[in-house]
Amino acid sequence: MANQCTWQGQDGLGCTHTALAGKSYCAEHYPLVYKVGSAVKRKKDTSRYDRIQMLIDDFNAVLEELEAEGWTPEWEGEVGRL
Ligand SMILES: [Zn+2]
Repeated sequence: MANQCTWQGQDGLGCTHTALAGKSYCAEHYPLVYKVGSAVKRKKDTSRYDRIQMLIDDFNAVLEELEAEGWTPEWEGEVGRL
């Protein structure tokens, strides 16, 4: 099942593209969302930052799936989400 990109944009017209698997945004908008707040960074740093953000997002997505299945992290309350 494919989700639709939830990008709203400045015009509020949204996006009709299909979101990436397990994501809330399409391939075009997903990187944009995670560049917010890091506009001053150099391009190299920004791309590294985006990769890290995607890893964190994947990590949290897996956690959510596991928790939805009833699994509780042993370290919950100590480390929590990234
Ligand atoms: Zn989009």
